[in-house]
Amino acid sequence: MQPDTGAHIIAVANQKGGVGKTTTAINLATAMAAVKKKVLILDLDPQGNASTGFGIDRNAREITSYDVVLGAAPVKEAVLATEIPGLSIIPSTVDLSGADLELAELPQRNFRLQQAFDKADIRADFDYILIDCPPSLSLLTINALVAADSVLVPLQCEFFALEGLSLLMRTVEQVQASLNPGLDINGVVLTMYDARNNLSEQVALDVRAYLGDKVYKTVIPRNVRVSEAPSFGKPVLLYDHKCAGSQAYISLARELLGRRKSKIAA
Ligand code: ADP
Ligand code: MG
Repeated sequence: MQPDTGAHIIAVANQKGGVGKTTTAINLATAMAAVKKKVLILDLDPQGNASTGFGIDRNAREITSYDVVLGAAPVKEAVLATEIPGLSIIPSTVDLSGADLELAELPQRNFRLQQAFDKADIRADFDYILIDCPPSLSLLTINALVAADSVLVPLQCEFFALEGLSLLMRTVEQVQASLNPGLDINGVVLTMYDARNNLSEQVALDVRAYLGDKVYKTVIPRNVRVSEAPSFGKPVLLYDHKCAGSQAYISLARELLGRRKSKIAA
């Protein structure tokens, strides 16, 4: 359950790879930091794409999300600054790929990340914590869903998108039923939308019919600048803030912050 004060923790999750989880975590975080929110990204994918996307050198990743989930180091020691004011990251390395098996052997295996966050009182230091989940419904993702207040689902507008979404929603319901009753659906964000493609439009309509206002009005277009930015170790907002992808992430951040504000006020 979300305490009255401190960071709101969002798991960015979808068991499919390549749907825009990392891109959304990076750019949403950057857009929130631009309006003076203090934001932490926890890179929970062994591929470390979020860490690379912020230009965090592999040699600089001494204490990582692996140490955090396994309780091998205090959370705060793992936090690194990025070049963006107000935005920090806990990086990951390929070591994290062994964490699932190790977690399986531990007591309270679903609660390790939540316990690590609580122990460090990490909520006190940030306004938002975004967890970039791996592309699976593994123990790492379950740990993220247990530690989080809400789950944000990037969804690529393609065939089978809805099937994957219903599997994820079932997992979220199971987590709500037994592990984290306070977990909310933050929303679904449609990514890599191609206005020239009828399938994109049809999938968007289907998803909105299925989930109603849970789907963000903002749609992230397919945009080449978005895909170029990570190779420069920069969020697209720093690489080309005028491009359509950057503008869409600014609009998503505004919509998310607005929704949250009205939720707190309600
Ligand atoms: P995930 O984290 O879900 O695996 P990524 O965020 O890494 O997905 O995105 C997968 C690939 O698609 C990456 O190469 C990324 O640069 C690219 N990509 C993501 N969003 C967009 C977009 N809006 N336009 C163009 N390419 C994108
Ligand atoms: Mg990713």
